[in-house]
Amino acid sequence: MLDITTLTKRYGNGTLALDTVSLSVAPGEILAIVGGSGCGKSTLLRLIAGLEAPSRGAVRLNGEPITAPRPEVGLVFQEPRLMPWLTIAENVAFGLAHLPKAGQKRLAGDALERVGIAAFAGAWPRELSGGMAQRAALARALVTRPEVLLLDEPFSALDAFTRHDLQDHLLELWGWYQPTMILVTHDIEEALFLADRVVVMQPRPGRVRTEVRPGLARP
Ligand code: ADP
Ligand code: ADP
Repeated sequence: MLDITTLTKRYGNGTLALDTVSLSVAPGEILAIVGGSGCGKSTLLRLIAGLEAPSRGAVRLNGEPITAPRPEVGLVFQEPRLMPWLTIAENVAFGLAHLPKAGQKRLAGDALERVGIAAFAGAWPRELSGGMAQRAALARALVTRPEVLLLDEPFSALDAFTRHDLQDHLLELWGWYQPTMILVTHDIEEALFLADRVVVMQPRPGRVRTEVRPGLARP
């Protein structure tokens, strides 16, 4: 269970990006967060990821405060952010440095198969299309089977055809081991298609409104 309580973030320059936001996300839930630009969506994800410290309040995963990035929380951004000097399989295995080489290779191969690009394991990032690269980013985030997967506008840089393909694929990936997913998107249709629940962040910091959508598209 992920619990966000009275979470407040004021940046060093005085900007109040989040004001006493409280929210609970159930295990295995797909939650979408929508709202206009500047309402604090990315800030909220960065705080959940432990990349940023709250000014007040806390994010707790199973009762434990998140104060730094941790393996239970995976992250996918709008751009794939693959390292160009590593192959796709090496990019995916990057977070597995603590394991023996053979184990890394096997897990990276499994993850690439899950996202449908096993054939590209030995390819370089520049050889992949935008959609393929984003699949690789999903594999890299999921290879450690994080309890929580955070997605910050993961499909908004893709054309409509590729985007729909990856939206369908994300639901399939959810079925793999049913992680909690938090998806930030500006595409309200995408939110309604993918999410169990949609949280609307209002332009006034701290105002959140939630709407419940019982699993519309869940496989
Ligand atoms: P969204 O993702 O909804 O567009 P953000 O979380 O990026 O919103 O930003 C929320 C507010 O905080 C905005 O006013 C933005 O300008 C400000 N902001 C974001 N990051 C920083 C930062 N590192 N320093 C100062 N202000 C920031
Ligand atoms: P846009 O006009 O914004 O480029 P579309 O009108 O083609 O995009 O699609 C809008 C939304 O419709 C998508 O973002 C998606 O949420 C939803 N959608 C429709 N069909 C599907 C599908 N098969 N799989 C996933 N999403 C779909």
